[in-house]
Amino acid sequence: MTKTAFITGSTSGIGLGIAKKFAEKGYNIVLNGFGQAAAIEQLQNSFTEIFGIQADYCDANMKNPKEIREKIGQIIEKFGKIDILVNNAGIQFVEKVENFPTEKWDDIIAINLSAAFHTIASVIPKMQQQNFGRIINVASAHGLIASPEKSAYVAAKHGIVGLTKVVALENAKKGITVNAICPGWVLTDLVKQQIEANAEKNGQTFEEAKKDLVSGKHPSEEFATPEQIGEAAVFLALSDSSSITGTTLSIDGGWTAM
Ligand code: NAD
Repeated sequence: MTKTAFITGSTSGIGLGIAKKFAEKGYNIVLNGFGQAAAIEQLQNSFTEIFGIQADYCDANMKNPKEIREKIGQIIEKFGKIDILVNNAGIQFVEKVENFPTEKWDDIIAINLSAAFHTIASVIPKMQQQNFGRIINVASAHGLIASPEKSAYVAAKHGIVGLTKVVALENAKKGITVNAICPGWVLTDLVKQQIEANAEKNGQTFEEAKKDLVSGKHPSEEFATPEQIGEAAVFLALSDSSSITGTTLSIDGGWTAM
Protein backbone atom coordinates (compact mmCIF):
# COMPACT_ATOMS: atom_id res chain seq x y z
CA MET A 1 0.00 0.00 0.00
CA THR A 2 1.32 3.44 -0.92
CA LYS A 3 2.73 5.30 2.04
CA THR A 4 1.54 8.81 2.89
CA ALA A 5 3.85 11.63 3.96
CA PHE A 6 2.54 14.79 5.64
CA ILE A 7 5.02 17.65 5.46
CA THR A 8 4.25 20.82 7.40
CA GLY A 9 5.32 24.13 5.84
CA SER A 10 5.75 22.56 2.40
CA THR A 11 4.47 25.34 0.14
CA SER A 12 7.99 26.75 -0.18
CA GLY A 13 11.66 26.29 0.68
CA ILE A 14 12.92 23.19 2.47
CA GLY A 15 9.44 21.70 2.98
CA LEU A 16 8.73 21.88 -0.74
CA GLY A 17 12.10 20.24 -1.46
CA ILE A 18 11.18 17.43 0.96
CA ALA A 19 7.70 17.02 -0.58
CA LYS A 20 9.23 16.78 -4.07
CA LYS A 21 11.62 14.03 -3.01
CA PHE A 22 8.86 11.96 -1.34
CA ALA A 23 6.62 12.40 -4.41
CA GLU A 24 9.50 11.42 -6.69
CA LYS A 25 9.88 8.18 -4.71
CA GLY A 26 6.16 7.36 -5.08
CA TYR A 27 4.77 8.43 -1.70
CA ASN A 28 1.39 10.16 -1.51
CA ILE A 29 1.96 13.59 -0.03
CA VAL A 30 -0.04 16.07 2.00
CA LEU A 31 1.21 19.62 1.67
CA ASN A 32 0.72 22.36 4.26
CA GLY A 33 1.65 26.02 4.59
CA PHE A 34 0.65 29.44 3.40
CA GLY A 35 0.22 30.56 -0.19
CA GLN A 36 -2.31 31.55 -2.85
CA ALA A 37 -5.01 28.88 -3.27
CA ALA A 38 -4.45 28.76 -7.04
CA ALA A 39 -0.69 28.33 -6.68
CA ILE A 40 -1.14 25.52 -4.15
CA GLU A 41 -3.65 23.77 -6.41
CA GLN A 42 -1.21 24.06 -9.30
CA LEU A 43 1.49 22.55 -7.12
CA GLN A 44 -0.77 19.61 -6.20
CA ASN A 45 -1.70 19.04 -9.86
CA SER A 46 1.91 19.15 -10.98
CA PHE A 47 2.90 16.53 -8.36
CA THR A 48 0.09 14.26 -9.51
CA GLU A 49 0.89 14.71 -13.21
CA ILE A 50 4.65 14.29 -12.89
CA PHE A 51 4.83 11.56 -10.26
CA GLY A 52 1.41 9.86 -10.53
CA ILE A 53 0.81 10.12 -6.79
CA GLN A 54 -1.99 11.61 -4.71
CA ALA A 55 -1.12 15.15 -3.58
CA ASP A 56 -3.42 16.64 -0.97
CA TYR A 57 -3.31 19.91 0.97
CA CYS A 58 -4.01 20.61 4.63
CA ASP A 59 -4.58 24.26 5.51
CA ALA A 60 -3.91 23.95 9.26
CA ASN A 61 -2.21 26.97 10.79
CA MET A 62 0.69 25.52 12.79
CA LYS A 63 0.14 28.23 15.40
CA ASN A 64 -3.23 26.76 16.32
CA PRO A 65 -3.20 23.47 18.31
CA LYS A 66 -6.94 22.80 17.89
CA GLU A 67 -6.73 23.24 14.13
CA ILE A 68 -3.64 21.02 13.90
CA ARG A 69 -5.29 18.16 15.76
CA GLU A 70 -8.62 18.42 13.93
CA LYS A 71 -7.10 18.66 10.48
CA ILE A 72 -4.65 15.82 11.07
CA GLY A 73 -7.66 13.72 12.09
CA GLN A 74 -9.20 14.56 8.71
CA ILE A 75 -6.05 13.49 6.83
CA ILE A 76 -5.99 10.17 8.71
CA GLU A 77 -9.67 9.63 7.89
CA LYS A 78 -9.02 10.28 4.22
CA PHE A 79 -5.78 8.29 3.77
CA GLY A 80 -6.34 5.75 6.57
CA LYS A 81 -2.98 6.73 8.13
CA ILE A 82 0.02 9.03 8.05
CA ASP A 83 3.18 6.92 7.67
CA ILE A 84 5.68 9.76 7.51
CA LEU A 85 5.35 12.99 9.46
CA VAL A 86 7.80 15.78 8.66
CA ASN A 87 7.64 18.73 11.06
CA ASN A 88 9.17 21.48 8.98
CA ALA A 89 7.06 24.66 9.30
CA GLY A 90 9.10 27.40 10.87
CA ILE A 91 9.67 31.13 11.15
CA GLN A 92 12.54 33.30 12.29
CA PHE A 93 12.99 36.64 14.05
CA VAL A 94 16.30 38.25 14.93
CA GLU A 95 16.70 40.64 17.89
CA LYS A 96 18.60 40.91 21.18
CA VAL A 97 16.79 39.16 24.03
CA GLU A 98 16.03 42.39 25.91
CA ASN A 99 14.25 43.83 22.86
CA PHE A 100 12.69 40.59 21.59
CA PRO A 101 8.93 41.18 21.18
CA THR A 102 6.87 38.79 23.32
CA GLU A 103 4.50 38.02 20.45
CA LYS A 104 7.44 37.00 18.24
CA TRP A 105 8.74 34.74 21.01
CA ASP A 106 5.29 33.16 21.39
CA ASP A 107 4.87 32.66 17.62
CA ILE A 108 8.28 31.04 17.18
CA ILE A 109 7.77 28.68 20.11
CA ALA A 110 4.26 27.83 18.84
CA ILE A 111 5.18 27.18 15.20
CA ASN A 112 8.76 25.87 15.50
CA LEU A 113 8.24 23.72 18.62
CA SER A 114 4.71 23.28 20.02
CA ALA A 115 3.23 22.46 16.60
CA ALA A 116 5.46 19.37 16.47
CA PHE A 117 4.14 18.23 19.86
CA HIS A 118 0.59 18.47 18.54
CA THR A 119 1.27 16.80 15.17
CA ILE A 120 3.21 13.99 16.83
CA ALA A 121 0.52 13.39 19.46
CA SER A 122 -2.07 13.28 16.67
CA VAL A 123 -0.30 10.80 14.36
CA ILE A 124 1.39 8.46 16.82
CA PRO A 125 -1.56 6.26 17.95
CA LYS A 126 -2.14 5.13 14.37
CA MET A 127 1.60 4.62 13.79
CA GLN A 128 1.71 2.47 16.93
CA GLN A 129 -1.28 0.46 15.73
CA GLN A 130 0.38 -0.31 12.39
CA ASN A 131 3.79 -0.84 14.00
CA PHE A 132 5.40 1.56 11.52
CA GLY A 133 6.05 5.26 11.47
CA ARG A 134 8.71 7.79 10.61
CA ILE A 135 8.83 11.18 12.29
CA ILE A 136 11.36 13.63 10.93
CA ASN A 137 11.76 16.98 12.62
CA VAL A 138 13.48 19.72 10.68
CA ALA A 139 15.49 21.33 13.47
CA SER A 140 18.59 23.34 12.57
CA ALA A 141 22.27 23.75 13.33
CA HIS A 142 20.67 26.04 15.91
CA GLY A 143 19.24 22.93 17.57
CA LEU A 144 22.82 22.05 18.50
CA ILE A 145 24.63 25.36 18.88
CA ALA A 146 23.63 29.01 19.26
CA SER A 147 24.01 32.38 17.59
CA PRO A 148 23.30 35.76 19.18
CA GLU A 149 19.94 37.50 18.62
CA LYS A 150 18.07 34.24 17.95
CA SER A 151 16.85 33.41 21.48
CA ALA A 152 13.40 32.09 20.50
CA TYR A 153 14.61 30.22 17.43
CA VAL A 154 17.54 28.56 19.23
CA ALA A 155 15.33 27.69 22.23
CA ALA A 156 12.69 26.17 19.93
CA LYS A 157 15.23 24.24 17.88
CA HIS A 158 17.04 22.88 20.95
CA GLY A 159 13.57 21.99 22.25
CA ILE A 160 12.63 20.03 19.16
CA VAL A 161 15.87 18.06 19.36
CA GLY A 162 14.90 17.14 22.94
CA LEU A 163 11.36 16.22 21.86
CA THR A 164 12.85 14.05 19.10
CA LYS A 165 14.83 12.03 21.64
CA VAL A 166 11.92 11.55 24.06
CA VAL A 167 9.44 10.38 21.41
CA ALA A 168 12.12 8.09 19.93
CA LEU A 169 12.62 6.42 23.33
CA GLU A 170 8.90 6.08 23.97
CA ASN A 171 8.42 4.32 20.63
CA ALA A 172 11.66 2.40 20.23
CA LYS A 173 9.89 -0.98 20.24
CA LYS A 174 6.95 0.13 18.14
CA GLY A 175 8.42 0.32 14.63
CA ILE A 176 8.54 4.10 14.85
CA THR A 177 11.70 6.15 14.42
CA VAL A 178 12.04 9.80 15.33
CA ASN A 179 14.96 11.89 14.12
CA ALA A 180 15.92 15.50 13.59
CA ILE A 181 17.62 16.95 10.53
CA CYS A 182 19.82 19.92 11.36
CA PRO A 183 20.43 22.07 8.28
CA GLY A 184 22.91 24.90 8.21
CA TRP A 185 22.19 27.68 5.70
CA VAL A 186 19.71 26.88 2.92
CA LEU A 187 18.90 29.71 0.52
CA THR A 188 15.13 30.01 1.14
CA ASP A 189 12.82 32.97 1.82
CA LEU A 190 13.56 32.64 5.54
CA VAL A 191 17.27 33.17 4.91
CA LYS A 192 16.89 35.71 2.09
CA GLN A 193 15.17 38.00 4.62
CA GLN A 194 18.19 37.74 6.92
CA ILE A 195 20.57 38.43 4.02
CA GLU A 196 18.55 41.50 3.03
CA ALA A 197 18.63 42.79 6.64
CA ASN A 198 22.41 42.20 6.86
CA ALA A 199 22.96 43.93 3.50
CA GLU A 200 21.04 46.97 4.70
CA LYS A 201 22.78 47.05 8.08
CA ASN A 202 26.29 46.70 6.59
CA GLY A 203 25.81 48.79 3.43
CA GLN A 204 26.39 45.75 1.18
CA THR A 205 24.79 44.37 -1.95
CA PHE A 206 22.61 41.28 -1.56
CA GLU A 207 25.32 39.15 -3.22
CA GLU A 208 28.04 40.45 -0.86
CA ALA A 209 25.88 39.82 2.21
CA LYS A 210 24.96 36.37 0.89
CA LYS A 211 28.60 35.40 0.46
CA ASP A 212 29.50 36.70 3.94
CA LEU A 213 26.59 34.83 5.53
CA VAL A 214 27.44 31.43 4.10
CA SER A 215 31.21 31.69 4.39
CA GLY A 216 30.87 32.98 7.97
CA LYS A 217 29.41 29.65 9.12
CA HIS A 218 29.89 26.94 6.46
CA PRO A 219 33.50 25.77 6.00
CA SER A 220 32.29 24.49 2.60
CA GLU A 221 31.23 28.07 1.70
CA GLU A 222 28.23 26.45 -0.07
CA PHE A 223 24.55 26.59 0.85
CA ALA A 224 22.76 23.28 1.40
CA THR A 225 19.75 22.85 -0.91
CA PRO A 226 16.11 21.93 -0.17
CA GLU A 227 16.57 18.86 -2.38
CA GLN A 228 19.53 17.68 -0.30
CA ILE A 229 17.43 17.98 2.85
CA GLY A 230 14.67 16.10 1.00
CA GLU A 231 17.00 13.22 0.12
CA ALA A 232 18.04 12.93 3.78
CA ALA A 233 14.39 12.84 4.87
CA VAL A 234 13.59 10.10 2.35
CA PHE A 235 16.58 8.12 3.60
CA LEU A 236 15.38 8.38 7.21
CA ALA A 237 11.93 7.18 6.09
CA LEU A 238 13.22 3.91 4.58
CA SER A 239 12.35 0.60 6.25
CA ASP A 240 16.09 -0.08 6.28
CA SER A 241 16.66 3.02 8.42
CA SER A 242 14.83 1.36 11.34
CA SER A 243 17.89 1.47 13.63
CA ILE A 244 18.40 5.19 13.18
CA THR A 245 16.34 6.82 15.90
CA GLY A 246 16.59 9.57 18.48
CA THR A 247 19.43 11.24 16.69
CA THR A 248 20.34 14.33 14.68
CA LEU A 249 21.68 14.53 11.15
CA SER A 250 23.64 17.69 10.38
CA ILE A 251 23.57 19.00 6.81
CA ASP A 252 25.58 22.14 7.33
CA GLY A 253 28.74 22.13 5.21
CA GLY A 254 30.79 21.42 8.35
CA TRP A 255 29.45 24.29 10.52
CA THR A 256 28.94 22.25 13.69
CA ALA A 257 32.22 20.38 13.29
CA MET A 258 34.09 23.59 14.13
P1 NAD B 1 10.41 29.15 4.23
O1 NAD B 1 10.01 30.47 4.78
O2 NAD B 1 10.83 29.04 2.80
O3 NAD B 1 9.26 28.07 4.46
C1 NAD B 1 8.51 28.02 5.63
C2 NAD B 1 7.26 27.23 5.36
O4 NAD B 1 6.50 27.18 6.59
C3 NAD B 1 6.34 27.86 4.31
O5 NAD B 1 5.68 26.84 3.58
C4 NAD B 1 5.32 28.62 5.17
O6 NAD B 1 4.08 28.83 4.51
C5 NAD B 1 5.20 27.66 6.33
N1 NAD B 1 4.65 28.25 7.53
C6 NAD B 1 5.10 29.35 8.21
N2 NAD B 1 4.27 29.60 9.23
C7 NAD B 1 3.30 28.65 9.23
C8 NAD B 1 2.16 28.39 10.02
N3 NAD B 1 1.83 29.16 11.04
N4 NAD B 1 1.38 27.34 9.69
C9 NAD B 1 1.68 26.55 8.61
N5 NAD B 1 2.74 26.76 7.82
C10 NAD B 1 3.54 27.80 8.13
O7 NAD B 1 11.57 28.66 5.22
P2 NAD B 1 12.58 27.43 5.15
O8 NAD B 1 13.94 28.00 5.21
O9 NAD B 1 12.23 26.49 4.08
O10 NAD B 1 12.32 26.78 6.57
C11 NAD B 1 11.73 25.50 6.76
C12 NAD B 1 12.24 24.91 8.08
O11 NAD B 1 13.64 24.70 7.98
C13 NAD B 1 12.02 25.81 9.28
O12 NAD B 1 11.64 25.02 10.39
C14 NAD B 1 13.39 26.41 9.51
O13 NAD B 1 13.58 26.78 10.84
C15 NAD B 1 14.26 25.25 9.11
N6 NAD B 1 15.63 25.63 8.78
C16 NAD B 1 15.89 26.47 7.75
C17 NAD B 1 17.22 26.79 7.45
C18 NAD B 1 17.59 27.68 6.31
O14 NAD B 1 18.77 28.02 6.22
N7 NAD B 1 16.68 28.05 5.45
C19 NAD B 1 18.25 26.26 8.23
C20 NAD B 1 17.93 25.41 9.27
C21 NAD B 1 16.62 25.09 9.54
